[in-house]
Amino acid sequence: MHPCLTCGACCTQYRVAFHWLESDEVTPGGVPAALTERLDAHRLCMRGTLAPPIRCVALDAEIGQRSRCRIHPQRPSVCREVDASWEFGKPSPQCDKARAAWGLPLLTPADWHWRDGAGNDPQPDDDDRSPSPPLAA
Ligand code: SF4
Ligand code: SF4
Repeated sequence: MHPCLTCGACCTQYRVAFHWLESDEVTPGGVPAALTERLDAHRLCMRGTLAPPIRCVALDAEIGQRSRCRIHPQRPSVCREVDASWEFGKPSPQCDKARAAWGLPLLTPADWHWRDGAGNDPQPDDDDRSPSPPLAA
């Protein structure tokens, strides 16, 4: 399982600030404006992250057990830019710092072995529920 689904720590550690143009008030499908507040002339931030204690209003989690972002498809660009450590072959300082703050072990390359196995499976979804491939013309 993806480690972020049992974590959520980074959504409780940082101010989540981004340009107001990312709001769904101006960009269809953008960050829900109701979950944001004004930070300064050019930036909004996610409610719950302006000042400590930080916990993003969009976070649905028991940290270290289960976690999801309620607005995942619409989350701000800064959230998309935070990598989990070793997900892309290198540690992530933001991930490590957040997990350490909760006393969670830092991720290691071994936390991604499940993905290697799935990637090496030529038919990873072949459990009789996969759609049939299109017929050759
Ligand atoms: S702290 Fe790391 S593992 Fe936890 S949710 Fe954030 S990126 Fe994922
Ligand atoms: S918007 Fe989602 S991913 Fe970003 S900090 Fe909030 S809960 Fe986390």
